[in-house]
Amino acid sequence: MNGIDGDVLIAGGGVAGLSAAAILAARGFSVICADPVPPVTSPGAAGADPRSTAFLGPSVALLRGCGLWDRLGGEAAPLRVMRIVDAGGAAERRADFDAGELGAEPFGYNLPNWLLRREMVAHLEATPGARLLAPARVAGVVARADRAMVRLGDGESLSARLVIAADGRDSGLRAAAGIGARRWGYGQKGLVFTARHDRPHDGVSTEVHLTGGPFTLVPLPDDARGHRSAVVWMERGPRALELAAMPEQDFEAEMNARSAGVLGRLTLEGGRAVWPIVAQIADRLDAPRMALIAEAAHVVPPIGAQGLNMSLADIGTLADLLAAARDAGEDIGAPAVLARYHRARHGRVLARILGIDALNRAAMAEARPLRRLRRLGLGVLSGVPPLRHAAMRLGLG
Ligand SMILES: Cc1cc2nc3c(=O)[nH]c(=O)nc-3n(C[C@H](O)[C@H](O)[C@H](O)COP(=O)(O)OP(=O)(O)OC[C@H]3O[C@@H](n4cnc5c(N)ncnc54)[C@H](O)[C@@H]3O)c2cc1C
Repeated sequence: MNGIDGDVLIAGGGVAGLSAAAILAARGFSVICADPVPPVTSPGAAGADPRSTAFLGPSVALLRGCGLWDRLGGEAAPLRVMRIVDAGGAAERRADFDAGELGAEPFGYNLPNWLLRREMVAHLEATPGARLLAPARVAGVVARADRAMVRLGDGESLSARLVIAADGRDSGLRAAAGIGARRWGYGQKGLVFTARHDRPHDGVSTEVHLTGGPFTLVPLPDDARGHRSAVVWMERGPRALELAAMPEQDFEAEMNARSAGVLGRLTLEGGRAVWPIVAQIADRLDAPRMALIAEAAHVVPPIGAQGLNMSLADIGTLADLLAAARDAGEDIGAPAVLARYHRARHGRVLARILGIDALNRAAMAEARPLRRLRRLGLGVLSGVPPLRHAAMRLGLG
């Protein structure tokens, strides 16, 4: 075969792979995105992703640039204040980080993942140069001098200058390319669900510390039935499984006790899902004719809304490097181009993972002296404006 089927083939149609397809298509690349599972695009359907994603400023700019934000902006809940509540001591301690102190823009915007998939799929369907293949599993990649040959699960073959591995934390493409990954756990799991509440959230994302890991309520837009938030509740593994299996009434009693009443009475909306909490980094982000992005490259505990935001930073960097290479007449899948991507991202990703790792360990602290230290640190961080502003900017990426 002489012709090339696409400039870029993306293995994985999760939120990261779909975003990459939209962003690269907007930069003029022809893109094929393949996933063995067609994206689930309604909240109640089997296999729907119950999580939400808080997009921080740089990610919103990227989504705006490729036209996706026109579809998403109206459905998103703005996050104006990040509140940390330490309810574990004799007196409750609160720290507010208000985006208004840094400028007019909110910290970010929160959207349900099923809705992201629905809008991203619709956007790709309307984008010339982008093609979504699902169901289609990438079964093998062979790097040739001028292209990658991609074998699909049904035996069909496709070719592209570059393959992007966006096939998730257990990436088969990463393993087949011989790239190792370091993974470590925390003995924690994250319970994810939607809660309705009596009081409005007023654009405040609240992280409550009491026992176990943090309990975080992230605003969702109100609907006809009232106020809603997406909740991530981190706990030691066995306790998380116990909570997930409880009858609904008992679970509601537990979650109301754990939320310390910050938004009034909470009721459960829909199901509960459990995620293992791990950190992971791939040894390299490049292989012959392949670039690794998103969870195929890095995984972090879900605190500070960093996971997909780091993935969008991967995609933004890669899109810039590929466009520059193309404009300079270079082959976008050449080793030198992909090595630039590895150098631009790997160190930054590692630094951020280590930062989130430290925050997660501090959030988990159960021993009394460590809890005191956490409360003290929170007081200093929130009470000293220059430190508070620096922390906010760091969190924004
Ligand atoms: C509880 C929780 C809350 C989170 N909240 C936030 C947040 O607020 N903000 C944020 O930025 N991040 C957040 N994250 C992180 C974010 O959800 C993830 O980074 C993101 O969803 C992962 O996206 P992904 O596309 O890399 O992986 P996945 O969603 O796992 O997608 C991988 C895709 O690859 C496909 N695939 C697998 N094998 C193949 C193959 N051989 N060929 C083709 N396709 C294949 C799979 O079917 C799948 O669709 C959170 C994570 C968790 C666990």
